[in-house]
Amino acid sequence: MKQVKLWFRQALSCKAKSIESNGSAGCKSMQPAFLLSKIMCFDDLKSCHICPRECGANRVSAPGICGVSGTGVYLTRAALHYWEEPCISGTNGSGTVFFSGCSLHCIYCQNREISVGDAGTMVSVSKLSEIFLSLQERKAHNLNLVTPTHYAPEIIEALTDAKARGLNIPVVYNTGGYEKAETLKMLAPFVDIYLTDFKYLDSSLSKAFSHAEDYPEAAKSALDEMVRQCPECIFGEDGLMKKGVIVRNLLLPGHVKNSKDVVRYVYERYGNRVYQSLMNQYTPIGRFPDFPELERKVTKREYRRLVDYALSLGLENAFIQEGDTQKESFIPPFDGEGVLC
Ligand code: SF4
Repeated sequence: MKQVKLWFRQALSCKAKSIESNGSAGCKSMQPAFLLSKIMCFDDLKSCHICPRECGANRVSAPGICGVSGTGVYLTRAALHYWEEPCISGTNGSGTVFFSGCSLHCIYCQNREISVGDAGTMVSVSKLSEIFLSLQERKAHNLNLVTPTHYAPEIIEALTDAKARGLNIPVVYNTGGYEKAETLKMLAPFVDIYLTDFKYLDSSLSKAFSHAEDYPEAAKSALDEMVRQCPECIFGEDGLMKKGVIVRNLLLPGHVKNSKDVVRYVYERYGNRVYQSLMNQYTPIGRFPDFPELERKVTKREYRRLVDYALSLGLENAFIQEGDTQKESFIPPFDGEGVLC
């Protein structure tokens, strides 16, 4: 594994704010039995409405649109990860858990290897809790749950158990942004940082690229809930985020306008209360006869236009990628590290 790379430049005013340093910002005390009975239970999986697809699948016996079924959790990797934004990766790395399956199915998916529901290895909830704790033991700065929503009931149970056993690092909810506010409300006692994509404001694009015409409305409502839970970004003296919201904006080739619209929307609604992360690392994965622009990388000029626009709005809290990040891969090997042992 490569050592940490500062592939982002943290722009302008990152105002570090100290918090009580018990390591877990904003975690309210919990009563596990109450949470499990009142918030979300495995019966939800018999007619699943966890994500905006609301496909109603009985996941105990058959997969939903996200591709996930059964009573276990499929993981492809649980390891220290150094390629998130600097306030997440720090120097030790982020304790990243990659879940299989996804409800979005973007045609250009950068993680297609694991976006199918049964990729990787199935683990129990108790094993998942052990994995969370083992990442803390490895000195991860935080626990980073990647594409977690379809496993929300299992994650709530595993976090309840792990926190009762001493998990106290911040929990990062790393999502594509296609979320139901109701589900996020149930996760509020457990999540400290939302690291969320905001992929589209144009529903014709979300329909064409992610088969989700309702993505813009779902993402807006989800982001409102995230900011309600984390109304400002809080950093420790070490510069690491302890609580807050980071909105990621992956620039797609030929679609600068979409990304500009997202930047403007997020800035006008939340100002500098959230961080925006402008990403240029789109990697083409194959042929797209209907969308040939997706067969190339983003140009430097396209990215520069987006960055200049963001700065012209007055955006102060942002992460900007520097150098030749387009030539590099930030996708780790999905080799079962941290899961198979
Ligand atoms: S999480 Fe999966 S099964 Fe549940 S509503 Fe979404 S796509 Fe359907």
